[in-house]
Amino acid sequence: MSGKSLHTFNKISYVIDENKCAGCGSCVKACPVNAIRGENKKPHIIDSEICIKCGSCIEACPEKYSAVEKKTGLVSEKVKQKKEMEGGVDLSK
Ligand code: SF4
Ligand code: SF4
Repeated sequence: MSGKSLHTFNKISYVIDENKCAGCGSCVKACPVNAIRGENKKPHIIDSEICIKCGSCIEACPEKYSAVEKKTGLVSEKVKQKKEMEGGVDLSK
């Protein structure tokens, strides 16, 4: 495809490092909007479409795991569109 414009914007996101996450579930209980999912003792994931970026999961994750990371940086429009498709969320322009 040609002429694709890539808008970039600052974005904060919370992600769980699957190599560190022990699947203890503390973050699931701490999340006010049920944005975290995962099976017991398996790496959990944060649904970025639901997450309201409150940071409670970072505080809830035991220090020995420290599996939740707050990330900031530029995200391309392309990534945003992909997430819309995956999550079925209609973010009208
Ligand atoms: S930052 Fe807050 S809303 Fe987002 S996943 Fe963590 S606890 Fe849930
Ligand atoms: S609190 Fe930390 S180790 Fe426990 S499930 Fe959540 S991210 Fe994984």
